[in-house]
Amino acid sequence: MSERTLQGIHHVTAIAGDPQENVDFYVGVLGLRLVKRTVNQDDPGTYHLFYADAIGSPGTDLTFFAWPGAQHGREGAGQASAVALAIPTATLGYWTERLADHNIAFEGPRPRFDEEVIAFSDFHEQALELVAAPDGGSRQWRAWADSPVPAEFAIRGIHGVTINEAIEDPTIPFLTRELGFRPAGEMAGRRRFGVGPGGSGAWLDLIITPGAPRGRVAVGTIHHVAWRTPDGEQHRQWWQQIREMGVPISEIIDRFWFRSIYFREPGGVLFEVATDGPGFMVDESAEDLGARLVLPPWLEPHRSEIEGRLPRVELPQFAGRRARVGPTM
Ligand code: ZN
Repeated sequence: MSERTLQGIHHVTAIAGDPQENVDFYVGVLGLRLVKRTVNQDDPGTYHLFYADAIGSPGTDLTFFAWPGAQHGREGAGQASAVALAIPTATLGYWTERLADHNIAFEGPRPRFDEEVIAFSDFHEQALELVAAPDGGSRQWRAWADSPVPAEFAIRGIHGVTINEAIEDPTIPFLTRELGFRPAGEMAGRRRFGVGPGGSGAWLDLIITPGAPRGRVAVGTIHHVAWRTPDGEQHRQWWQQIREMGVPISEIIDRFWFRSIYFREPGGVLFEVATDGPGFMVDESAEDLGARLVLPPWLEPHRSEIEGRLPRVELPQFAGRRARVGPTM
């Protein structure tokens, strides 16, 4: 590979059901900040909600398309299954207690490589893991002062993703030869790959289950995994490289907060490569992130129609924080 390497996970996007339940879980239980309250740009009548650290740092961002009333998906081959979130090593007890206090069933902590893993699901059955890894507490990350989870225990960002496939060829050569992933260990059928700097934030765990049926993307499943690239120039180079391989790929899409390209790895998982910038503060101050419905400029002319179709969503109330109500505030 050239010096151009993916820098780890930019964000993971999954499908939620009711958007209020989604906010209640990720803000109220996990203590992430809702940093962007917007719509799915490909389906502007539905929410796209972004949860992250205080300022939406790349690599901390877990996002959801809300499909209230839609069917549940099915975990299977050609799909990313669990999202792992990094927590500091000394916080396992805090988190098991917190999950129990919220009546959320969990398994673990269990060892995996040099980590301890707590496994559970959100309100819409999306598989999640809290992972205490030796380097997980040292991530680039900004504490959200209003979080219901004190900063010392707070989630530091996305640790990695698990991907399920029915066959290992040709996914592994695609990852290693084309995208620059490196094998980083194997344990109990879980093959770990790192990209760029490796470590927490840059793990892809591959589980091969021969003959596994394909998954179906709907509520409670992951829609796509986005990988980081620092700037527009490298982003264009990735687009060119993947296109020249003959892999079907989207055009370069301006998502306003970052640029995106989309393609499927050979096993079927939808990947995105996204630029680190310009970031979530191009249209909101750090203080106001996530407080109101924001639309990219090309959707602003349709604001009233869009707002009329979206259900109300409130931030959960805790620690005396005033809930902000409705999509328009
Ligand atoms: Zn994305």
